[in-house]
Amino acid sequence: MPLEAGLLEILACPACHAALREEPAADGQDAELRCTADSGCGLAYPVRDGIPVLLVDEARRPA
Ligand SMILES: [Zn+2]
Repeated sequence: MPLEAGLLEILACPACHAALREEPAADGQDAELRCTADSGCGLAYPVRDGIPVLLVDEARRPA
């Protein structure tokens, strides 16, 4: 399920407040929102049933 248009523009990484980018999830599940900060956290937040879960505790950390 695609995210609602415009939603990404108002969302920010809860860890470093950088913009987020929608990416296909590596595991074939729903998309995830990846932090775009060049020197930031790089966390990837899951999207479950079309709803972004912007919780640091739920985020996937970069390898
Ligand atoms: Zn971040």
